[in-house]
This record gives sequence, C-alpha cells and structure tokens, in this order.
Amino acid sequence: MASEATQSNQVRADIIAMGTELTTGASTDTNSAWLSSRFVELGVSTRRHVTIADDLPAIVHEVRESARCAKVVVMTGGLGPTVDDMTRDALADAVGEALVLDESALAEIEAFYASLGREMPETNRRQAMRPESATMLRNDWGTAPGLRIRIGDAEVFSLPGVPREMKAMFAAYVVPAVEAMAGREHVSVRVIRTFGAGESNLAEQISDLMTVGRNPAVGTTASEGVISVRIVARGESDEAADALAQKDIDAVRERLGVLVYGEGDDTLASVVGKRLAELRKTVSTAESCSGGLLGAMLTDVPGSSAYYVGGFIPYSYEQKSESLGIPMELIQTHGAVSEPCAEAMAERCRALTKSDYALSITGIAGPGGGTEDKPVGLVYIALADSAGVKVKECRFSERLNREVIRDRSARTALNMLRRKLAES
Ligand code: ATP
Ligand code: MG
Repeated sequence: MASEATQSNQVRADIIAMGTELTTGASTDTNSAWLSSRFVELGVSTRRHVTIADDLPAIVHEVRESARCAKVVVMTGGLGPTVDDMTRDALADAVGEALVLDESALAEIEAFYASLGREMPETNRRQAMRPESATMLRNDWGTAPGLRIRIGDAEVFSLPGVPREMKAMFAAYVVPAVEAMAGREHVSVRVIRTFGAGESNLAEQISDLMTVGRNPAVGTTASEGVISVRIVARGESDEAADALAQKDIDAVRERLGVLVYGEGDDTLASVVGKRLAELRKTVSTAESCSGGLLGAMLTDVPGSSAYYVGGFIPYSYEQKSESLGIPMELIQTHGAVSEPCAEAMAERCRALTKSDYALSITGIAGPGGGTEDKPVGLVYIALADSAGVKVKECRFSERLNREVIRDRSARTALNMLRRKLAES
C-alpha cells in the first residue's frame, strides 16, 4: 500500500471537456469517461470532470482552477479552426501569454492539405498558433495539433475532441509523461465477465472479497444482463499489482465457475465464436421475437463467416410454416410462443441449413400481446444439435421493456450455446 508520503504526493488528474454541443446535449461526452478509465489503469486518480460551453472566461477560470489542484490536466475539443474553438486562446489567457505562430506546425498542416491535393484554407492558420511557452503535439491522426503547457505545477495537455484522434494522442503524449511522474500508484485493472446470475446473487458468492478498503478493490457492475466483476489491485510495482490482481481473478473464477464466460473485451458472441471455430462447428438461427438480434450479435464478431451459416426471421405464422416447414397444426395447437414451436424452429433450422447447432427464439416482447397464461416476457429458447433439442423457458419481468426482453433473449441463447460448447 502507498505510504502517507506518497499518498499526499499522489498524481491527480482533472479532465475538461469543451464544447457547447456537449453542454446543450447535442452530443455526449464520452471522452471524459474513457480518459478516466485509462487514468485508473495508470495509477492516477481523477479529481473531477468538467464540461464547459464555448465561453472564453469560463474556460480560463476552470483551467486555472484545475492547474492549481491537479498535477495532470487533459482538455479535449475546441482545437479546430473555427471561432467557437477557444482552447488556444484560453490557455494563452490562463498563463498570460500571447499566441505565437509555430512555423513547423504550420508547415505540417500545409503538408497535410497538400497530400490531399488541396490548399490549406486560411482559417486553418489558427491551428498553428500556440501560447509562447507551449509545445505543439503533432497530430498524425487528423489536422488539429494538440498542445502541452506547464501551468504552475501542472502539466496541461490539450487534445482534439474527435475520440479517435484524442485516444491516439493520449497514448502518444500523455501516457509517457504520466508514467515518468513520481507518486504514481502501480495499478492492475482486470474485469471478469459473467452471464446467467443476478448481481446480488453473484455478489454474495464473493462478498468477502468486496469489503470496502480491501486491496484489491473488487466490485460488480451490471449492463445488458452481463454482470462484470472489476478487480483493481495496487502494489509497489506493476508486477506486484498484477500478481495481486491475478490471485483474485483465480479466486473469483473458481467460485463463480461456469457463470464466467470471459475477461475484458470478451463478449458472449466472441467467446462462442472462438469455441465454434476451434471445434470446427457451425451454428444457425431462427428468430421470431428477437427479429435478427441474435444473428446481429454473432455477425458483430470479425471472422464469424467461419461458423455462422445464417438463419431465418419467420415472424408470422405463415412464415414459420412456409420457410421453416413447421406444421400449421402445431402452431395452432400450442401457439407460436410455446415449447413445441421453439423446438420445431431449432430442429427445422438445423436441418435446412445443415449446421451443427441451431438456436431458436420465440416469445412475447410486449408491451402488448400478453395474456394471463402467456404474459409479456415469456420467451422460449431452443438449442438443437445432433443429439436432439433442448428448450429453456424464460420468464423475464413484465416491467422490462421490449428492447431489454429482446436483448436478454438473444444473449440467453448465446449463453445456452456457450454452456453446451463447454461440455464438448
Ligand atoms: P476539429 O478540428 O475536428 O474541430 P476540435 O478539437 O475542435 O476538432 P471539437 O470541434 O470540439 O474538437 O469536436 C469535434 C468533434 O469531436 C465533435 O463534433 C464531437 O463529435 C467529437 N467530440 C468532441 N468532444 C467530445 C467529447 N468530450 N466526447 C465525445 N466526442 C467528442
Ligand atoms: Mg472544432
């Protein structure tokens, strides 16, 4: 654990997002969240997020305040060539310097336009201006160069607003500078992904690891039915932090067993896809209430053509009968939302596509269409393979909306296949 001395010396960051489009709600500030999670990994604690309209005095005020309290300040946006791009002027005002033209930045911007076969518009000259003591940060991913300037004890970085450019420039300029700072903590962040249990149920199984103040800090978050266990370990070195995190990873994996489907960026679809590819097996889909969501999730994964053969979206009774060949009599006797119908959809889909596995979904996503014995949220999901077909009856809460019921149905189907593939 960090000693008292290093605690007080701890590197703190402020993040400032600029733009009236953010304060009016026309677009969402995703940059600050992204930067904060990178800072966690770098062992830097973020002191505050500030979002400011394109208002020069307000920006100057906040920059001065941040430079007074934080060691690192990252600003995003407002570097463009138009009059609403005020970051340059605000930084100059904050340090009481004039803006000067940076000849080499100007040459780079001109060269960028020349490479497009165009002449640089005169307004873009502004982008080559910097406060006298600032350094230009070359932007190899777009036009607007960034800026780095020392204000008091703080290192202030100004990066473009476009997320792709901001991320690349953060990695190129901010990360090395922060890594060189004393007082940075050594942190290892790992995230385990689970599906199939509720958050409180899952948290109970690892409650002793979740004690407040413990190192590593272990917490759960829920999003789209996926419960994630986040482990943040601090150590004297990066290696010590990694080792500490690994111990908890092992403990959590052991306790949660098959609920765990992966780590980090793994999705149910990517994990299922990887396993299918390893086994050289294929899958197809027949979706009624999810309307193609399951197919979309499967095909979101690059390389999915290796194992996903395709599928059907037989929404009406007629299509269930005509395209899949399910007897109309079966649908009329049991209803389209029924165990026999889900079974038949999966079996017929597998036979028609000649795939190894087939998944089917039929249910009532609402808000209308529910009855007493078939309420909104009732969904049947079937998985057919060479050994036969298995159906799962899901009763999602009627309080969930249509979007959530459809999404959970598709993910539950993927999870059924994942569990099946884990057996082989
Ligand atoms: P440009 O040279 O493209 O004008 P800039 O540095 O001036 O770059 P802005 O004009 O502030 O940046 O923003 C450009 C675009 O980047 C915005 O239209 C928006 O789509 C995106 N953007 C800006 N700030 C953010 C943010 N905080 N989070 C997510 N996206 C952002
Ligand atoms: Mg702009």
